[in-house]
This record gives sequence, C-alpha cells and structure tokens, in this order.
Amino acid sequence: MKDLFLPRLCIVCGRQLILQEEHICTECLADLPRTRFHRQRCNLMSDSLNERIMQENSESFEPYAYAHALFFYNGENGYGRISQALKYRRDFSAGRHFARMLGEELAGSELFRDVDTVLAVPLHRLRRLRRGYNQAEIIAEEVAKALGARFICDRLSPLRRARRTGTQTRLGSGQRAANVRGAFGLKKGATLPGNASHILLIDDVFTTGATLSACRKELRRLLPGGTRISVATLAFVDN
Ligand SMILES: [Zn+2]
Repeated sequence: MKDLFLPRLCIVCGRQLILQEEHICTECLADLPRTRFHRQRCNLMSDSLNERIMQENSESFEPYAYAHALFFYNGENGYGRISQALKYRRDFSAGRHFARMLGEELAGSELFRDVDTVLAVPLHRLRRLRRGYNQAEIIAEEVAKALGARFICDRLSPLRRARRTGTQTRLGSGQRAANVRGAFGLKKGATLPGNASHILLIDDVFTTGATLSACRKELRRLLPGGTRISVATLAFVDN
C-alpha cells in the first residue's frame, strides 16, 4: 500500500523498487562492490590501521586489529549514497538496513565471531545536538544485534570527542592524522566492562583510518594489553 503514496526508489540508481526489493534494486545489490575483507585476516584496511598502531607504540604488544567494510566507495559509483543517506538525509531505515547487512557478514566471519563489545566513534557534543543523532551509533547498534554482542551507546561510551575536527574530505592522509590529534579523549571516570576481550569500533566511512586509530588509542588506555580492538565501517574509500 505504501507504494501508492510514495514510490520507493533504489538508493543507488534511483529506479522504482518492486515489492520484494528493499532500499536497493536487485541489479545494484548484485553489483555492490563488496570488500569481502571479513574473510581476510590481512587486507588493505587492516594493514593501514595496524601500520598506524605500530608507529604509535612499537614497544607494547597489541593483538592485530581486524577490519571490515561492507563496500568499496570511490566517489564515482553511486554506492556512496548508502552511507550519505544516513549521514545527511536522516534515512534511518536505509541506514539500519545496510548496517544489518554489515552485521550479518561480520557474524559469519571467523575473525569477528567472538566480538563481545561494540561501540561507535563519537560525534562532538555540539554536532550531535545539531544533527540529533550519531550515524555511527546507529550502525553500531545494528551490528551488535547481528553479532549478539554488548552494545555500548554513546551516552555510556568511555569515548568523547574533545574538539570538533571540521570536515576531513579534502585533507590528505598526513593532514587528517594531524587534524584528529587530540580530538578524542576519555570521559571522566570512564570504564569498559571488565570481561571485554574483543572490541569492535564502528564508523560510517573508512578513509585513512586516522579517526578510528585515534579512538582506538584512547580505548587502549582502559584495556589490558591482550584485548583486541577491531574496526568496521559501511564504506571503505578506495583511494
Ligand atoms: Zn538500483
């Protein structure tokens, strides 16, 4: 009946959807440029992240961080609209739909199956107020459900964004790292559940890993050395 009032359109190509299609048409879904990173211990995303981790703390032992993204985004294919729908157009239904797809892939992966705690990269307080929600938190909630893991919402998260970083879209890798330096911190008296052994940190898009890596560094201060901190996002920007 919904179709009589408002045509439902494919988020990628804009074609009108048929009844059994949800948010994306069958053709665009078949062509979704999936990364399949969840099947590879080492991939483009995890390598760039672990390289940062090693540069930061060459002395202490830290388990390798696994990394997965649902799809490749190169700016030209229409698939970027999937992450934009949630971030800019308040399309929560589409956002949750694709977050569930990400969660199902993670739940089927040997690498991520034992994730016990899921939380999101926080927004700055003012940006959150203005937007009304944190898109990464919505993704994290769906992913936690799919994994059967504990979801830590932003209000209870130990992480806080200490300062606004502005848009990173036009910055290169080194500039992004400088831009997020000191941007994240821990809330006063912050803790994490003591039995967390594999934590999954969620963001909407992975570009250089600077943001996720800065958050990971803060979380690390609360955790014993053997705790694994992995990451997952909807989109992986293929530079
Ligand atoms: Zn389509």
